[in-house]
Amino acid sequence: SGLNKSILDQGWGEFRRQLDYKLVWNGGWLVVVPPQNTSRTCPCCGHVSADNRKTQAQFACVKCGFEENADLVGAINVLRAGHARFACEVSGAAMPPAAGTHRSDSDAAQCRV
Ligand SMILES: [Zn+2]
Repeated sequence: SGLNKSILDQGWGEFRRQLDYKLVWNGGWLVVVPPQNTSRTCPCCGHVSADNRKTQAQFACVKCGFEENADLVGAINVLRAGHARFACEVSGAAMPPAAGTHRSDSDAAQCRV
């Protein structure tokens, strides 16, 4: 909540409005995704836990052992959530979970990010 307040204080609402405007002007589009659990979700097996985030910088899944830089994990999850949301908006299906798709345990062993 402290981070949210500081972001609001920085006028990120205006930044988002400008980004949307510029993207449309240049033939792109802005896909807004809910940020919940994007930093806590394992991109390999889908396990969601605060314990996956060992430190601010390091992600280590407590379920499958996947390890990666925490910022990269967050970016992967946001990208997946954006793709899932965009696909669902096109098809008219229900909205997906915030952090994208969940994979079964059998997929974890073959995970390559
Ligand atoms: Zn995992």
